[in-house]
Amino acid sequence: MPQPTQQQLLDWDRHHYWHGFTQMAGYEPFIIERAYGATLVDIRGREYLDGVSSLWCNVHGHRHPKIDEAIRRQLSEVAHCTSLGVSNPTTIRLARRLSELLPEGLDHVFFSSDGACAVEVALKMAFQYWRQCETPEPERTKFIALGDAYHGDTLGSVSVGGIDFFHALYRSLLFEVVRVPSPDPRRLPQGISRDVAAAYYLEQLEKVLSNQSGEIAAMIMEPLVQGAAGMIMHPAGYFQGVRNLCTQYHVLLIADEVATGFGRTGTMFACMQEEVVPDILCLGKGLTGGYLPMSATIASTKIWKAFLGGASEKKTFFHGHTYGGNPLAAAAALASLELFEEEGTLRQLVPKMARLGVHLSRLAKHPHVADARQTGFMAAVELVQNKPAGQPYPSADQMGWRVCQDVLDRGIWIRPLGDTLVIMPPFCITMNQLDRMMEAISRGIEVVTARFLKYELGQG
Ligand SMILES: *Cc1c(COP(=O)(O)O)cnc(C)c1O
Repeated sequence: MPQPTQQQLLDWDRHHYWHGFTQMAGYEPFIIERAYGATLVDIRGREYLDGVSSLWCNVHGHRHPKIDEAIRRQLSEVAHCTSLGVSNPTTIRLARRLSELLPEGLDHVFFSSDGACAVEVALKMAFQYWRQCETPEPERTKFIALGDAYHGDTLGSVSVGGIDFFHALYRSLLFEVVRVPSPDPRRLPQGISRDVAAAYYLEQLEKVLSNQSGEIAAMIMEPLVQGAAGMIMHPAGYFQGVRNLCTQYHVLLIADEVATGFGRTGTMFACMQEEVVPDILCLGKGLTGGYLPMSATIASTKIWKAFLGGASEKKTFFHGHTYGGNPLAAAAALASLELFEEEGTLRQLVPKMARLGVHLSRLAKHPHVADARQTGFMAAVELVQNKPAGQPYPSADQMGWRVCQDVLDRGIWIRPLGDTLVIMPPFCITMNQLDRMMEAISRGIEVVTARFLKYELGQG
């Protein structure tokens, strides 16, 4: 078969390949043919720095020889075998390795293929737990989740999600959730300073728990940073406070570390920063170093034990995915975890986090940047029309998207969440590349906001 021409690829991409979260009517193809390290190469041979780690999942760079080799080696053994009553040495080793790395007691690993499924599994596990634990409390059927939460796109994960638009659209398909406000330091109520923000939001949670804890199976949240919710960075102490309240009111705690896991916040898992051990933890995105679809739901021994019994007791976890625990993905994940040790990934990240911080403090001074914030190697730059008045740009103007388009022309690929630019490069990015990326973003903000100002004046 002859290779398609560039024009055919562009046409077929627009017509046949239906892209996620993408309005296909106005879709402009951006076709990556190759990649290496932190660099993407499109079909015209143009190079771009991958400023969002291919949607927050790439860790050690594209085409890392060690991960490539691990997958090849696995291919010469077996590409796939089911996880339903069947096992494989590579996947066994990965489960063991994860339990060693995770906080004490998180020892039982259930594999799926996407973050949303890892969340779905956690919800079903928590629900079923209360029906068959030692002293069952089957009336515990509800979940607490944070406002604005994002936990994936399947119906269960959208139910616990709190993004208004998705909720309104799919409401009749979703189950009800008890919502507590997200501890967002930028949107504190009057009279609440940042110092007391954690205590204030914990009080809100305690009110709910003291009224309805008997109906609550679990609370689910992202520790430290709510990523897709708009890069909301929680006040210190909030997560630990949630853990304490959940323990006090016998509510299970599910930590969704799909985005924060594998070093993103500067420690291997975000939970570790506040010494929290959740009852169930979800991993995805960076698990395979950004190579292959794999996610995991890890249960504590307390949860796991509630599912043990004779065949007739029907305590089995009635859930499983065709490709759960796929050995090729497991091989990539094991290699990625080995790289963390061999290359001292987290140690090497320290100066890069600091340099990112320097760039962000400079950006924060820009008259159209409301806020430039950072946790570990996750950063967000929020654009605003009128900074003193805190007035956002009209959403129809798509300023975030415009800046990203301008930055793309400068050879940097980033994606916005509304008017918040998300900056989350792979850990392998070099200092020079980091500088180049942040300078391009800075130029992009300057040029696009100035152009907009001129346009506004022209209109006025
Ligand atoms: C991305 C994400 C998910 C969903 O993961 P998918 O692999 O896209 O299904 C769930 N939770 C969080 C916190 C995420 O960032």
